[in-house]
Amino acid sequence: MSETSSKSVWSIGLKGRCPRCGEGKLFHQILNVREKCDKCNLNYRFADAGDGASIFVLFLLGAVMVGAALYVELTFAPPLWLHAVLWAPVTMILAIAMLRPMKGVLIALQYRNKAEQGVWDDKGAAIDVSTADDSPTSTSSTNSWDGDKK
Ligand SMILES: [Zn+2]
Repeated sequence: MSETSSKSVWSIGLKGRCPRCGEGKLFHQILNVREKCDKCNLNYRFADAGDGASIFVLFLLGAVMVGAALYVELTFAPPLWLHAVLWAPVTMILAIAMLRPMKGVLIALQYRNKAEQGVWDDKGAAIDVSTADDSPTSTSSTNSWDGDKK
């Protein structure tokens, strides 16, 4: 079951599916990541998109919303209260709708590229945790990506 799905990270991420098998669900509720895949048992402990999804949504949606508001202002010249009533809820709804697929894509990219926190030895040199399992300075003796296969 360690076979990685051949589906693209975009397809998997946008659908909120497991980055390894592409079938199991990644999220429960709206934005919470499950503990593990319900199909291939991949542990989602590695999944930490942090604020990455928010930043992408912020920049993307900000540009689109400002453009839309300018277009509406220049075309229809509505009163200011109408802008406030229109754009605030539209922006909130779109931001929430975009966060989940964006987070899914980032987690899929994180899995495929094995992106993880950097680990340094006493002399300040980077340690490759995937090959330094027996090193006394290594923080983990297992490969955190597939720890569920044991
Ligand atoms: Zn899976």
